[in-house]
Amino acid sequence: MSTQRDYYEILGISKDATESEIKKAYRKLAMKYHPDKNKEEGAEETFKEISEAYAVLSDAEKREQYDRFGHAGIDGRYSQEDIFRNADFGDFADLGDILGGIFGGGFGGFGGFSGFGGGQRRQGPTRGSDLRYDLGITLEQAAEGVDTTINVPRAENCESCNGTGAKAGTSPKTCPTCHGSGQMTQARKTPFGTFMSTSTCNACHGRGEIIDDPCPACKGTGKMKKVRKISVKVPKGADNGLRLKVRGEGEEGSPGAPSGDLYVVIHVEPHDKFQRMGDDIVYEQAISFATAALGGDVMVPTLHGKVKMNIKPGTQTHSILRLKGKGMPHLHGHSHGDQLVKIIVKTPTKLSNEQKELFKKLQELDGGPDVKATKGGKGIFEKVKGAFEAGA
Ligand SMILES: [Zn+2]
Ligand SMILES: [Zn+2]
Repeated sequence: MSTQRDYYEILGISKDATESEIKKAYRKLAMKYHPDKNKEEGAEETFKEISEAYAVLSDAEKREQYDRFGHAGIDGRYSQEDIFRNADFGDFADLGDILGGIFGGGFGGFGGFSGFGGGQRRQGPTRGSDLRYDLGITLEQAAEGVDTTINVPRAENCESCNGTGAKAGTSPKTCPTCHGSGQMTQARKTPFGTFMSTSTCNACHGRGEIIDDPCPACKGTGKMKKVRKISVKVPKGADNGLRLKVRGEGEEGSPGAPSGDLYVVIHVEPHDKFQRMGDDIVYEQAISFATAALGGDVMVPTLHGKVKMNIKPGTQTHSILRLKGKGMPHLHGHSHGDQLVKIIVKTPTKLSNEQKELFKKLQELDGGPDVKATKGGKGIFEKVKGAFEAGA
């Protein structure tokens, strides 16, 4: 720590100062001692002291720790950099606002602090992270394939500093503590010999470099959030969970490192008519008693338009008819699956007098209410039905 002076004393306020008094005192002193404004010797040190005091006292929890345990309550838990790194103060817009307000537009450099507001720890140039985007498509789109554009929010290198995080005209310095490696090696002597241990450099948090003047545009992170339009080609036959890799469209890497990749994960929305079973499509077609008994042609919708399908006389309910090649296209292939048409024989509920008479007549001809015999088609029907139910 650079100081053991009392934080209240540094800000020139009383122990029971209110939040706004703390802020006011900080603004006043920050304006006086900011290194961009005050070139006197020691101003930068004073400014650091002020900022540190403010970071602690403006945070209710840290202030309480400090009030109870003094510096000991803070020192062990937060290094000077951590105070600024933590989300509380990393709520950096706030500090930016304060300073922006003081100095009229953009806040200037803070001497000596590294990694301002930066959350990312890096060791040398880091490849950008991969991104995942979940894309919902309709079954029709999956059948035909679709070219679409998606809006992907991602981190890109800041244009003002080209991703270095250092204010324009300055550049990050090699960390003097670890000489740029981001790591520190320590020798530990024990009765069994000397052991070397490696840990992340405390001075630069593993980045290997230190930024004296953070870039105001990105607050020293080197990154900016951008929303990019990216075109995606979904192939015919795409199914749930298909991952499409769009190379290099993930988050941008740090300068000199490659970008991550974008993975578009396909979700096919449920369809109100069609059910998908792999490359086959299942569709339920209702037919009348009469059609089931006498047979006839019905028009059946498919993903490829309506198709005329012949119902054979004596078709049973739940029997399955196959429309060859009317299912989904095979992914990366030329052939198609089939459409399986499950026949549902509808029992009429409202009969006209004439229908009633006819059904009575039928019942008499059948020899009464019992079904005497079921003939034909059972073997194949049971087989297909079994397969259908297993997959459905
Ligand atoms: Zn270092
Ligand atoms: Zn920047």
